[in-house]
Amino acid sequence: MYWFKEKGRKMKDLLISTFRDKNTNAAKFREASEKLAAILAGEAAEYLEKKKMKIETPEGSAEGVVLDKDLVLVPILRSGVGLLTTFLKFYPKANVGFVGLRRDEKTAIAKLYYSKLPKISKETDILLLDPMIATGGSGRDALRIIKKAGAEESKITFVAVIAAEDGIAAVKKEFPKINIIVAQVDKELNVKKFIVPGLGDFGDRYFGTPEE
Ligand code: URA
Repeated sequence: MYWFKEKGRKMKDLLISTFRDKNTNAAKFREASEKLAAILAGEAAEYLEKKKMKIETPEGSAEGVVLDKDLVLVPILRSGVGLLTTFLKFYPKANVGFVGLRRDEKTAIAKLYYSKLPKISKETDILLLDPMIATGGSGRDALRIIKKAGAEESKITFVAVIAAEDGIAAVKKEFPKINIIVAQVDKELNVKKFIVPGLGDFGDRYFGTPEE
């Protein structure tokens, strides 16, 4: 969570400015999404358990690191898929679970319509992928499902692009031990529980579907 405070200085801020612009079309939105996902995937490595290993370079011995535990990526359908493809490039051995939550646009309450997770133990590192943390409701539903499947809370990292302050607070209240990586934090939600200024509906903009 540390680097989101440094708004306006980093590559993530250049990319988010592209996202936020309502004139950015789906192709450009996806391009920016892939680049930002690469940055987030890099940041996420900090929270994954690693072990030291020795590598022989052409010139001598060096100390390196490899991931030490099973890794499971869990995108929340559908917008989490916008992060998944890039995360799989960085973590090709990860297993992938899906949690499908559809938000009722009137109540902003998400309903579970699909859930399938791979084997998860207390040792498994988990990256939960959902670009927007608005109320935090979908994230909390997904976290409950992941914990019920056997995950240790402190081994879960929630990765998002933009979060509302209240959404983060709600997630942290129920799951104080998880890690959160978010590129930028916005102050407010509107009456439809969309993040303001936010970027609109991430899934609709990424997949090029009309906003409901
Ligand atoms: N989901 C989105 O895609 N955008 C928001 O602002 C809130 C939830």
